[in-house]
Amino acid sequence: MNAADKYETVIGLEVHVELNTKTKIFCGCKNEFGAEPNTYICPNCLGLPGSLPVFNEGVLYRAVKAGLALGCTIADKSKFDRKNYYYPDLPKAYQISQYDMPIAVNGALEIVKKDGTRKKIGITRLHMEEDAGKLLHLTKSGQIGDAEESLVDYNRGGVPLIEIVSEPEMKTPEEAYLYLTSIKSILEYIDVSDCNMEEGSLRCDANVSVMEKGAKQFGTKVEIKNMNSFKNVQKAIEYEVERQIKAVEEKEAIIQETRLWNPEKNRTFAMRSKEGSNDYRYFPEPDIPPIVISEEYRQKIKKEIPELPMQKTERFVKEYAIPEYDAGVLTADQATAAYFEKTAKMSGEPKLASNWIMGDLLARMNAAGLQKISEVKILPEDLAKMIGLIKNATISGKIAKTVFEEMFNTGDAPDKIVKEKGLVQITDTGAIESAVDTVIAANSKVVEEIKGGKAAGLGFLVGQVMKQTGGKANPQMVNELLRKKIG
Ligand code: ADP
Ligand code: ZN
Ligand code: MG
Repeated sequence: MNAADKYETVIGLEVHVELNTKTKIFCGCKNEFGAEPNTYICPNCLGLPGSLPVFNEGVLYRAVKAGLALGCTIADKSKFDRKNYYYPDLPKAYQISQYDMPIAVNGALEIVKKDGTRKKIGITRLHMEEDAGKLLHLTKSGQIGDAEESLVDYNRGGVPLIEIVSEPEMKTPEEAYLYLTSIKSILEYIDVSDCNMEEGSLRCDANVSVMEKGAKQFGTKVEIKNMNSFKNVQKAIEYEVERQIKAVEEKEAIIQETRLWNPEKNRTFAMRSKEGSNDYRYFPEPDIPPIVISEEYRQKIKKEIPELPMQKTERFVKEYAIPEYDAGVLTADQATAAYFEKTAKMSGEPKLASNWIMGDLLARMNAAGLQKISEVKILPEDLAKMIGLIKNATISGKIAKTVFEEMFNTGDAPDKIVKEKGLVQITDTGAIESAVDTVIAANSKVVEEIKGGKAAGLGFLVGQVMKQTGGKANPQMVNELLRKKIG
């Protein structure tokens, strides 16, 4: 038995999400990415003595909305606490966060795996807090310790965050990946964050441990930070599981610590031993009154939550009879889902619409480096029209690929392309017959073989006729005519 088969992996994720409010959480400074360093700052977010925090209601609204969308119970009463630690990116030497009375608890989300099975992952809690500033270390070697200078930008200090903590219920890197894509998708649907990972709007720490299969007690966990894409999270967990199993097999102790993922070296490195919550000396934030949530407020926000990805997936499966996995891909973002629905409705062919979007369109977008379907030039009504042209035999499936490519590049309507490029399918028996005759005359050997029982040659002849007609002959008619003539 493989050593790895003796163990099971336990994964819990902590996700930090920057909220898309106009201003910061406790002051009126702009909450915007990409400005000149230290331009969106004030005495408050710089932690100057005498400044007092004023809580931004837009943060509460978004946190409650996210909590509800993730199936959490929203607290009746919640409060902020000070988490004390010193670091140059934290000028107050404490972060205003939430400790024992978070805004939301006990949620769950469901992931759909490739094999179609579903799994519920519990969400322990969701709380609000402020982001820290950003340090930039000028180092040639890449090691912070070698830095000759370090710069600090406080624009990010005081940007509102929610932290979403999962239960330790994921067992594979794939499950962790799906959990993250689901969270991102839900938060985008409810419009509380742009979830832009490159800009750091969505950040994830992974907690990983291994234990012998069937063990009652979890192994010691290691926390991994510094992963800037979901693929990296998956890779980091894969690496870490292997490292820990090896350590356990060699009877080495796993140390509870924070490790950093290095994407160039494809491995994790120890960063520091993990602080316990005692080290932070949490205490209630005295300058912000506790938050009381009314049932009315909860209900008002609940009504503003749109159909969520999982509900949409279920509806697509029912309404359009497409496989659950496909529906999951199509509903990952609202724009793609809307694009599909429009194409499906206008063409009356949901399955074909799904095939063209999931296959050709997504592949073509990938190749062209397009992230969003809104950047695609093909309008859904034109894709529907193109499907109509295949259905009424104006173009063959093969020609459709050419038409599609042209639509993708120019955004032109399919009928216009077909007309201008002379791509209409030849269904005129006379024209096809003459091409068939030419091919038969030029390939007497193959024809003899077919007559002798080697049917494989037929496909070759069909191909020849298609070539003769520039791919425009109706393949079914070509097939029939060849069979008739050869007998
Ligand atoms: P800490 O106080 O060290 O931050 P928490 O109990 O708050 O630890 O858990 C942080 C995250 O670690 C949660 O997402 C939780 O699910 C996960 N976690 C807890 N124990 C383990 C474990 N043994 N293995 C993997 N993940 C774990
Ligand atoms: Zn400020
Ligand atoms: Mg924690």
